[in-house]
Amino acid sequence: MSENYQSFEYDVLVIGAGGAGLRSAIEASAAGCKTALVCKSLLGKAHTVMAEGGIAASLATVDSRDSWQQHFSDTLIGGNFGNHWKMAELHAKQAPERVRELEKWGAVFDRTTDGKGNINVRHFGGHTYKRLAHVGDRTGLELIRTLQDKGVHSGIDVHMECTIYALLKDGDRIAGAYGYFRETGRPVLFKAKSIIVSTGGIGKLFSVNSNSWECTGDGFALAYLAGAELADMEYVQFHPTGMVWPHSVRGLLITEGVRGEGGVLKNNKGERFMFNYIPPKYQGKYAETEEEANAWFQKVVVEGQKEEGVKERKPPELMSRDVVARALWNEIKAGRGSEHGGVYLDIASRRSAEDIKKKLPSMYHQFKQLADVDITKVPMEVGPTCHYMMGGVKVNPETQESTVRGLFAAGECSAGMHGSNRLGGNSLSDLVVFGKLAGENAAAYAKLTSMPKIDDSVLAGLNKEMNQPFENKGEVSYAILADLQTAMEKGAGMYREESLLDGCLKDLEALKERLKKVAAEGNRLFNPGWHVALDLRNMLIVGEALARAAKERKESRGGHTRTDYTTYSKDFAKKRIVVRKKGEAMEIVQEDLPQVPAELEAELIKGGFLKAEILKQLRGEAPAH
Ligand SMILES: Cc1cc2nc3c(=O)[nH]c(=O)nc-3n(C[C@H](O)[C@H](O)[C@H](O)COP(=O)(O)OP(=O)(O)OC[C@H]3O[C@@H](n4cnc5c(N)ncnc54)[C@H](O)[C@@H]3O)c2cc1C
Repeated sequence: MSENYQSFEYDVLVIGAGGAGLRSAIEASAAGCKTALVCKSLLGKAHTVMAEGGIAASLATVDSRDSWQQHFSDTLIGGNFGNHWKMAELHAKQAPERVRELEKWGAVFDRTTDGKGNINVRHFGGHTYKRLAHVGDRTGLELIRTLQDKGVHSGIDVHMECTIYALLKDGDRIAGAYGYFRETGRPVLFKAKSIIVSTGGIGKLFSVNSNSWECTGDGFALAYLAGAELADMEYVQFHPTGMVWPHSVRGLLITEGVRGEGGVLKNNKGERFMFNYIPPKYQGKYAETEEEANAWFQKVVVEGQKEEGVKERKPPELMSRDVVARALWNEIKAGRGSEHGGVYLDIASRRSAEDIKKKLPSMYHQFKQLADVDITKVPMEVGPTCHYMMGGVKVNPETQESTVRGLFAAGECSAGMHGSNRLGGNSLSDLVVFGKLAGENAAAYAKLTSMPKIDDSVLAGLNKEMNQPFENKGEVSYAILADLQTAMEKGAGMYREESLLDGCLKDLEALKERLKKVAAEGNRLFNPGWHVALDLRNMLIVGEALARAAKERKESRGGHTRTDYTTYSKDFAKKRIVVRKKGEAMEIVQEDLPQVPAELEAELIKGGFLKAEILKQLRGEAPAH
């Protein structure tokens, strides 16, 4: 017998109310489907709300040279050609339309000051031209506010503070989802013809991270347990600039917008060390001396000159995140770090206090309130922090459908768009581009199918599993969570090697055993310890998939850095690592990664968007690192 559960029926069920979930739900509802949105937190509080620097789209409002081809090419180079090219192409082509749509729905982007009042765009790492539409450093808040306003007027049902614990199947196809309301603990069943998972990232697996509490990798594990394949799980982004001090806020993000607005990175000798870390793929594109970088800064950032007419190249602080994070790590390891174990990020000596407060208001308040540091007067201390998961549910690039019929994925929990490293700003655009496609295709599928059947005995089994912590006499969930975060940080963090990954997998096995005995006190009524106990199942699945995929990829590429295989490898350049459930075991396979069609590649090279020798480096056919 299952407990007394509430029950709902929908054409399309969207799990997650971040940018991807909201955009999907709007589209599914617009297609005439009865649609619901379920989220762990309150509507409007999803992790997307934390996004700061902007949304990338080749609007070309500030630099007329920008184009979808350049955005596409930057995304592939940033992702070291580990991307699914079709997703990167769709994204680059459709992002401008999605940004203009947001504006039409009420998003108030910052405007250009040239009298034309266009959407203003700013510089971000790895983007050739200014490309990030923004609302100060609170872009995520505006995105969520806009989509939420649009969504609530589109007839979508919203079930807040509700955690989905399992996806249900009818034969091979998706049939629904089962979970509980966090406040009351009451179980709930959602029957649905199609489901979109848009549950965000996995940052909470690591002890130093920039993510919100919701980012426990639920969607990855739910889809995996339902039989869907995961891909690219080894590709985790460690953002170079997280707060390192005070300890209570370690990992909290400092937007790349600080560097976009002129901030520079220095070691404890006062040196701007990024000039020593320009990899071959970026040589010729970035300034090689401080004088050149400062001249660019003065002309482009301070005076607002058009970059077209500026001969100097931009500073190396604006290279992609994987490159900058590794440079920081090396400086810290070499003993040239800051007082609290980071490096210095200095905007105080570059911009006026008035400019800093206007352009980076959240950063100013974050440091003032949390660390009593005035960033208009002194440098910030920063260090790498786990930030973003490039891997996720493997999807059809055009429909976003997973390998399970009727199950779709969008946003950070889906794989393919970003390859081995995401460029800043490309997530928010990913959410709206692929959110729309997922909504459209989930609705089309729902219209063609009947309501699936769900076996009540499955629900009884799930309830037993969920209630098990109340029967157990073991330790509490928080102790297991802390040890999991330490194991991941130590064994599968920014730098990996075979022995560390083996150690991590061994630690995860031991944690799995401990989880079987995890105990929760009291009952299901608002009980955070019990919630964490249930989240841990997902986190352990994701941790294992990540460590196994990282062990399989014997090369360094983007966010995946191996100290025992330090360069790109020809053998892995055209492969993606896929993880799937086989019986009770986790199976790892290498699949061919679809390659950019030769005609498109030739067009990009001919148009000057891509250099042939860079392509060779990224494919391991020429020296790289
Ligand atoms: C500090 C910070 C700044 C950033 N700045 C930028 C930026 O400027 N530009 C950019 O492009 N990217 C940025 N990013 C990245 C970007 O914000 C995220 O990748 C993106 O918001 C993820 O959106 P999403 O819709 O996929 O998921 P999320 O916004 O994470 O939403 C996930 C949703 O799923 C729900 N959920 C999760 N599990 C369950 C479950 N089991 N049951 C029910 N609901 C569930 C959650 O409650 C939530 O509603 C930033 C990230 C951080 C941390």
